[in-house]
Order: sequence, then structure tokens, then C-alpha cells
Amino acid sequence: MEAKSGSSTSATTILLHNAVIVTMDSDSRVFQNGAVFIDKDKIKAIGQSPDILHQFSHLAHHTLDLHRQILLPGFINTHVHTSQQLGRGIADDVDLMTWLHHRIWPYESNMTQEDSYLSTLLCGIELIHSGVTCFAEAGGQHVEGMARAVELLGLRACLTESIMDSGKGLPASWGTRTTDDCIQSQKKLYEKHHNTADGRIRVWLGIRQIMNATDRLLLETRDVARELKTGIHMHVAEIPYENQVVRDTRNVDDGTVTFLDKIEFLQENLLAAHTVWVNDTEIGFLSRAGVKVSHCPASAMRMLGFARIREMLNAGIPVSLGTDGAPSNNRMSIVDEMYLASLINKGREVYAKGTTDPTALPAETVLEMATINGAKSVLWDDEIGSLEVGKKADIVVVNPFSWSMVPLHDCISNLVYCMRTENVVSVMCNGKWIMKDKKILNVDECRSDSNAFEFI
Ligand SMILES: [Zn+2]
Repeated sequence: MEAKSGSSTSATTILLHNAVIVTMDSDSRVFQNGAVFIDKDKIKAIGQSPDILHQFSHLAHHTLDLHRQILLPGFINTHVHTSQQLGRGIADDVDLMTWLHHRIWPYESNMTQEDSYLSTLLCGIELIHSGVTCFAEAGGQHVEGMARAVELLGLRACLTESIMDSGKGLPASWGTRTTDDCIQSQKKLYEKHHNTADGRIRVWLGIRQIMNATDRLLLETRDVARELKTGIHMHVAEIPYENQVVRDTRNVDDGTVTFLDKIEFLQENLLAAHTVWVNDTEIGFLSRAGVKVSHCPASAMRMLGFARIREMLNAGIPVSLGTDGAPSNNRMSIVDEMYLASLINKGREVYAKGTTDPTALPAETVLEMATINGAKSVLWDDEIGSLEVGKKADIVVVNPFSWSMVPLHDCISNLVYCMRTENVVSVMCNGKWIMKDKKILNVDECRSDSNAFEFI
């Protein structure tokens, strides 16, 4: 695998036309014969093909006829462990505490910065193939290595270090880390990497989970995030055991969310991952504080349980979609997660209410979760998440003319219920193609002359 220079990604104005454009804007506009004109990294115009061609074709360095393929905002994967990509398959079919203490922590705590770079590179390639243009790292090893890979691939990301300052069973190299170390390290990473790679990389703060965080770490993280105007990524209410530990050690009646509310940790810039074991009162706390939630359907089904997604959406919480890491999902495709989210949450109605309700999580809602709600979750909806004039050109091209997606009676339904990862053909991030006709442009995923992946 090697870096390539001088690829065809440098055109400054691009006109894409003759496409079905699903904008995901606030009016849910769909152009059946649409076009978009891109100037550098931004969408300059969007509308009917004849109009856009008439106004802008003389300004376009490249004009591309998409032959009625579907054009969408880039998908946003709001919970990914890039460090875990090389650990795919090391922790299948075990309970969460075994998964964490005996499989993942020993693996992660031995990673070098180069391992992190390679793991993120491999993860990023898989994400791009499923149409992802932006992801939120859940908290991993060596942000420096992650940032190198993200910059090279051309992706957009909110990077977060894995942060723990207490708890049982920590590997020796992590056990000595103090609260001050955790805060200082993240401040340094923020200074060095925030807003780098043409603004595609942002640095967030992390809390791995409440059982590995002191109250002081929680409160300082909250305050530093406010000061830096950045987000916090944290696993929240994953399993009943977690709530039990919080009840036993932190003097609250319910669980993690109740405790976080009590110490005033809940705020608009918190992205809570999973959030499976929450009651109605706690959903109220999350909603009132403006907290965002990342729903990871496959990972939840493997280890955590049914999250109360419909209730959280009804309470106005922006719920988005994540794949989680390779050892807790195995498939790192947001396309698969859309399909699963829809089915699991319809199935949950039977489990929760004893009766079916196929209206739960309709296709349009699921598509919002993967796009505009994703953008809200990563605090970037002023620039991404929908195709609108002035927003960044983060775009996915889907070819619906293959066996998996024909016939195309309803575009939105087909995107959620029929689309496979293989239908994603091209991906643009920040106005530059990063995958074209299924070929990743900035690294050569087929070459192994650096021997980078020979051990796999
Ligand atoms: Zn996770």
C-alpha cells in the first residue's frame, strides 16, 4: 500500500448531472433529474439538470453525466473504533466484560503508533467503500497514527483518544495514567491536530466508559470540552451490569445517565454511544440536555440488547448510526447498519409491546440517521449531512441498476431496504473524489509492496 500523488482529485470545479439527487435537506427535496455544481470544497448550486448545466457548464473543469445514478450526502458513521480494525475476529461470541478485559484491552494496550496508522487505514478503506465520508472515532490508541491515515485517505473525522483513569483489570501500561495525564494528553492532541487536513480533522475529548472514569475526570472533561468548543464521545449505559456498578458505587437509583445528569455532565456536545439501558426519565434527561446518541444495531445485537431508539427519536434526541469496531460487529458497513436498524427496531416493537408495528423507523428516518442526524451528532451539521448550497461537497454516488436494487419504485425505500455496500460506486469528500468507480484513489489497496498487510 502506498501514497499516490497527482491523482485526478484536484479539479477545482466539478459539475455532476443527470442524477437522482436525494438532498436530505429540511424539505426532503429529491431531484429526479438533478445536477450539482461544486466549487473547490463546497456546493455552489444544486437543482434541475437543465438549469444547472445552462448556468454553470462553462465554469466547470470537469462535467460528469451520472446516467440516472443516485447522489446522496456522504454517510456519517458516528461510532467507530479505528484501532480495533486489526482485531477483527479476536473476540467473537463472548460477553462484554470478557470481550473488554481479556481480548480487546490486551490487544489495544500493545499497539504502536504504526499499528494505529495501519488499522485506521484499513478501517477507512472499508468505511469509504460503504459510502462514509465522515466518522467519529470512539476513543482509540495513538491519535497521531489515526490522523495520518485520515489525512491520506481524504476522509473527514472527529478523532478521540481512549481515556481511562481508573477501574479494575486495566493493562499495566494504562493503569498508571492519572487524571491530569488524561486531560493534558488530550489538550496536546487538540493543539496539534484539531482543524488540520484542510479542516477535515477535528479532535474531540473521550471518556471510554463510566466504570473507568473518576468523577474528577468527568467534570474536567466537561469543562475542557466547553472551553475548547469541541465534543465528548463516551460509551453510555451499555449493559445492565454498568448501571448496577453505578448504583452501587455512586449513590443513584437508576444508572449511568441518572448519575451523569446529577453531576451536570450531560450537555449538547456529548455524543453518547449505544445508550441501551435507559428508562423514560433518563431519556428525558438526555433530551433536555441536547445529548446526541449513536445507535450501533449490529454491535447492540451481538452484546448489549435492544436500544430504545423509537422513544429517543420521539423525545427529539438526534439519533445517528455507527458500526462500532470490527471485533464487535465484523462488518464495517453503514449500509448494513441502515438495513439492520430498520429491521431490529421493527422487531423490537414485538419484544417491547407484544404486537407488531412495521411503521417503526421507516426508511426516511433511517436515511436521516445515517446523514443529517449523523452530522448533528458530530456537531458539524452547519457544513455536512445534506446536499445544500454552501455546504461541503461530501457526496456518495450509488448505482441502483444491478440485481440488488432493481426495480426502483421508491428511491428512499430502495436505499435502505435493498442497497448493498457494492452499490456504492464513488465517494467525494471535501470536493475531492476519494473513491471513483469503486477504486480508492489516495492509497493503492491492492498493492502490498510496503508489506504493510502481509501479516494479516
Ligand atoms: Zn464502542
